[in-house]
Amino acid sequence: MVTRQLLVLGPEVQEKIFNLKILVVGCGALGSSILEQLVRLGAENITVMDADVVEISNLHRTHLFRYEDVGKPKALVCSQRAMEINPGAKVKPILDVLDETNAEEMVKGVDLVFDALDSVNSRLILNDACVKNRIPLIYGGVSGEYGSAMLVKPGETPCLSCFMEPQEGTDACETVGTTPMTVSLVATSQVQLMLRLLRGDYASGLYYIDAGSLSIDLIKMERNPSCQACSLMTYKYLKGLGHSCGIVRVKENPPEGSPVPYVKRVNDGLLICYEKCFKKIGR
Ligand SMILES: [Zn+2]
Repeated sequence: MVTRQLLVLGPEVQEKIFNLKILVVGCGALGSSILEQLVRLGAENITVMDADVVEISNLHRTHLFRYEDVGKPKALVCSQRAMEINPGAKVKPILDVLDETNAEEMVKGVDLVFDALDSVNSRLILNDACVKNRIPLIYGGVSGEYGSAMLVKPGETPCLSCFMEPQEGTDACETVGTTPMTVSLVATSQVQLMLRLLRGDYASGLYYIDAGSLSIDLIKMERNPSCQACSLMTYKYLKGLGHSCGIVRVKENPPEGSPVPYVKRVNDGLLICYEKCFKKIGR
């Protein structure tokens, strides 16, 4: 499957890709695009995590989703499509949200984590878990026709907590539009950063992507000496960080005998239940 790319990457890097254990957190627009590229590159051991279900409004920017997938769990659809593309790949779906209760457990034992989340608060928790456990993290974010991507190599490069602050209230819930081209450029940049990591040739800083003008610039950054993750090692977000929107775990249980997933519109959003229930707020 990878003979044409072997000429470009060489057998050593290709072997590394085959053997990498990768976690992709989030399988929306960014996550599904990253996942597709990973399985085409030959990655064979991937876990993909998302508690959300596919909605019609996702289809315009999401690589692996079709109209018939509406209402199905994103992580499940992502894993099935990815294994159709590369039947040699094992893509394990996890229908859950990442928060302070499971972040460390999720990243332990993997070689590399892709951040394809859409909430700053969740990604700060993921950043803490990766920095603490010394797992490389590749961040990507999209807003309108702009995006950014960055490799966090714990102990070497700056981390997300060096410059990102958690958001509260309505700021965290803001829905920003984007285009499929912007999403693809950011996802592609993230996967390319994985290659740079494997080749041992990477820079410290944030790649700023302007899809409108087709430009990518590296903003060089230094580690923040007062960063609570990579400098002070207090990892405060692993102690808990309130989520005011996005998907949160709730204590409810699905009604007896209900279909899986059980999806119901409620006053403040969408209730989604597998074995556990989640609420999608403010979208
Ligand atoms: Zn830091």
